[in-house]
Amino acid sequence: MLHNRGIMPHWIDAHCHLDAPEFAADRIKVRAQAAAQNVAICVIPAVQAESFAQARACAHEGGDAYALGIHPLYVPQAQDLDLAALDAALERWQDDPRLVAVGEMGLDYFVPALCEPAMRARQWAFYTAQLRLARKHRLPVILHVRRSADMLLKGLRSIGGGRAWQGIAHAFNGSPQQAQAFMDLGFKLGFGGAVTFERALHLRHLAQALPLEALVLETDAPDMPPHWLYTTAHDRQLGVAQGRNAPGELPRIAEAVAALRGISVGALAEATRTNACQALPRLAALLV
Ligand SMILES: [Zn+2]
Repeated sequence: MLHNRGIMPHWIDAHCHLDAPEFAADRIKVRAQAAAQNVAICVIPAVQAESFAQARACAHEGGDAYALGIHPLYVPQAQDLDLAALDAALERWQDDPRLVAVGEMGLDYFVPALCEPAMRARQWAFYTAQLRLARKHRLPVILHVRRSADMLLKGLRSIGGGRAWQGIAHAFNGSPQQAQAFMDLGFKLGFGGAVTFERALHLRHLAQALPLEALVLETDAPDMPPHWLYTTAHDRQLGVAQGRNAPGELPRIAEAVAALRGISVGALAEATRTNACQALPRLAALLV
């Protein structure tokens, strides 16, 4: 009897915090469940210097990929020395085929405490320093974009000096013009569980209308639960915990994106795999 393993779509979760404490108790099981759903590779972006080794260890443990960076939400507690630690880690592990990018880095202008002038300046300093490190170590970048697309683009243009970038604007939810600007600079745009909410009209329009060549899929697990895992504010007040997102949810999220675009799940899998490998070229060697 023929078994159809060869024709099952397989997936890249382009953004998944498998190293997060939420997965400490059952990470191997969570990864195995994702593998059973044909998630071939997770990209695990570190968020702070003290978790660089952990992100790398998780990637090696699960046959996955990792990125090293300082997330804007971790900038308030980050030290200047952490940038030197990032530089040193990128140097030390430069020949590790599972190290695919610098990130998660970026700017967050949603969280009020991060919008204070001094903290905006500090976020900017960490972001632009990490862009320089990505250039120095010839690696793509994984960007956190929250109400900050124009400033992120400004940084890319000023540090890039007219040359193209490679990377992913993760959890993209900007305007079509901002999407085009990221694409023009060489970026792919990450979509995840947020597109599964019927009320997310703007995001669903983007996921439907952007060129297929621009899209990568991601869970951002344990965050960004799709609607079937989401606990409403009302239920949380009653003591129900927020559902934990996991990389095994990616194929079901993909079904929602494929339905929006009117294409087959298989076609979406193939296109988004190709796109992820263009954004993060070292992934290609890990897929075979
Ligand atoms: Zn993230």
